[in-house]
Formats: sequence, structure tokens, C-alpha cells
Amino acid sequence: MSFIRDYFSQKVPAAGGKVPTYYRKALENNQLLLCVCFFINLCLITWTVKSLLWYPAVVLAAAVLCLLKLRKINARASLRLHTAIICMWCGWYVNAFGWSLGSQHMLLSVLVLVFFNVYEPPWSRILYFVMLIVYRMALFAWSLDHAAQYITERWVSIALQSVNSVTLFLMMGICYIRFSTSIQDSERELLLNNQLLSRKAETDPLTQLPNRLAMLEYMETYLKASSEEQFCVAIADIDLFKKINDTYGHNCGDYTLKMLADLFRAKAGDQYQVCRWGGEEFFFFLPGKNLDEAGVEMNDLRMAVSRMPLNFEGIEFSITITAGVEENDFHSTMDDILEIADRKLYRGKANGRNQVVI
Ligand code: GH3
Ligand code: MG
Ligand code: MG
Repeated sequence: MSFIRDYFSQKVPAAGGKVPTYYRKALENNQLLLCVCFFINLCLITWTVKSLLWYPAVVLAAAVLCLLKLRKINARASLRLHTAIICMWCGWYVNAFGWSLGSQHMLLSVLVLVFFNVYEPPWSRILYFVMLIVYRMALFAWSLDHAAQYITERWVSIALQSVNSVTLFLMMGICYIRFSTSIQDSERELLLNNQLLSRKAETDPLTQLPNRLAMLEYMETYLKASSEEQFCVAIADIDLFKKINDTYGHNCGDYTLKMLADLFRAKAGDQYQVCRWGGEEFFFFLPGKNLDEAGVEMNDLRMAVSRMPLNFEGIEFSITITAGVEENDFHSTMDDILEIADRKLYRGKANGRNQVVI
């Protein structure tokens, strides 16, 4: 029963807002089909009874007018007009030709439009639902007690029934296609937006490297899958970076961080993972490497950094990094391992910087 509670607690946008394109198009297509259907009916009826009947002609004129007005009025008003025209048509039709020609089935297409109208509050949809059933049953009861006004030839009956049936099927088909496509489009958009958001939440906007959160998640997944495997972690920090900001400006500092990130990304390839740990610190996760191998890898990186030519708006300079490396000993927690790597980094700083401590 919770779906009923959920249904009635839906929030509905205020009427008068932008009508969703899929809805406006479905309504317009249905209204156009109605006009065509009424017109063909009117021609056949005029041919049969040998005179132009004013009532269906007026309803056809109203249907055409409504089609022209649909773009200018809001979703709820459009739906009411569309419904009123169908009800006017069906009421007259059942009275004129009896129950067997099927025009009353068009009331079903209204129901689909009602339930897909995002501006229609839940109680109003239910009201439409009840009114349409009551109206249909009333027409049926009327048709039992009153003989049809016009008796048509067999071929005319078949022709009228065919026009009405084809129109109804087309109207329903258009609604289903328009609405299901819109749901799929919305779902696709939602999925793409979610992917974009989660990528944004896990990416450092300056360097485009993964951020600390992404790295912690990556390591957690990796360790769950390969708990027996050796790995090392390393934390690298730019030496005297504050000086670069203070001397050449913050933009130059940003440029340096980006260049360094590009170098790290290129060197890491798919051998190991790198992320921006925060500020001017970078973190490395080196799976399958022991302390010596990771030390060699980080030393190679340190030398590449010191050789990297930097040029910011004509200012040429270079930087160095200091790093601390620690390996997995299979009983320390990840926090402990990170803490040791960090301590080694600060030992390297205290010992004169531009070095890798293993
Ligand atoms: P040390 O060798 O001891 O690490 O010295 P340091 O100057 O690199 O370290 P310190 O912690 O004194 O300064 C770090 C500087 O990094 C200060 C901060 O403004 C700068 N920084 C952190 N994040 C960014 C950033 O995103 N852009 C820029 N331009 N600077 C940043
Ligand atoms: Mg630093
Ligand atoms: Mg630092």
C-alpha cells in the first residue's frame, strides 16, 4: 500500500510552468488526429444523412481552434480543453449512432494524457479517472434506453468504426512512444549526470588527478580483492613551494602543480596510481612492489621532477620533491602505513629535502 501513499504525497509543480516537450507534442499529435478523425467522420456522416449536421461541425471547429491554441495555454488547461472536446464528440456520437461504432473508446486516450501530466495533482488525476468511467457508463446506459438517431448502412458502419479504431490506436501509440522515450531520455540523462557528478567528486579540479577520496576508495577495493598482495605507498611533497607562490605569484604555483601532475600521470601509466593528496602533496599507491622497488621508482620520479623545465610567462625555474615510502607489512592498518610514510617524508625534509626516504 506504500505506493498509494507515495502517489498521493507527490509534489506537483505550480500550473503555468513550462510544459515538457514530450507532453506538448503528444497532446498536439492527439489533437491533430482528433481533427482528422472528426473531419472524416463528418464527411461520411454528411454523405449518409445527406445534410450537414451542425453539432459535429461545431465540435470539429472547436477541435481545430483548440489545436491552434494548445501552444499558448498551460498543460492543465490544454488537457481540459482536449477532454471537453472528446466528451462532447462521444456524447453526441453515441446518441446519434449507438454504442457499436466505438467513439467512446477515445476517452481512454484522455486517461493516458491525464496520468502523464506532471502538473496534474494526484487528486485531480483520480477525479478525471472517476469522471471518465462514470461518463462512459452513463453513455452506455443511455444507449441501452435510446435507439440510435441514425441508422447507417453496413459499409458506412464499418468505415466509421475503422476511422474511430485507427484514430484511437494511433493516439494511444503516440502517447506510449512519446512518454516511454521521454522516460528513457530522462533516465539516460540522470545516469550521465550521476556519472559526471561522481567523477567531479573524485577529481581534483586543478590537476585533474584523482583526489584523496578517490584514492582511498581505490585502495580499499584493491585490498579487498587482493589482500595477499605486496604493495607500497609513497607521499611526495614539493620542496619550498611557498617560495614559488610568494616570488612568482599564486598562478605560477597553480601552473607548477598542473605540470607536476602531468609528469606524474605520464610516469605512472598503468604501473601505479597517483593522486593529489592535498595542497602540494601527492600520494602514490604502488601495487606489487616491495620497499626497494618502490624506492627506485620514486627516486626515478624525483630526478625527473628536478630535471623538468618549468616556464611560466617567461620565468624559467625548477622544483624538487621529497618523498617518504612505506611498504605493507601485512599486519599494520592502512592508517599506520600512511603515518609511517608521512614521518619518513618529514625526515627527508629535515635532512635537506630533494630525497626519497625508504
Ligand atoms: P616544505 O619544503 O617544507 O614543504 O616547504 P613548503 O613551502 O612547500 O611548505 P609549506 O607547507 O610552508 O607551504 C605549502 C604551500 O603550498 C602553501 C600553500 O599556499 C601552497 N599551496 C597549497 N595548495 C596550493 C594550490 O592549490 N595552489 C597554489 N598556488 N599553492 C598552493
Ligand atoms: Mg612543501
Ligand atoms: Mg606540504
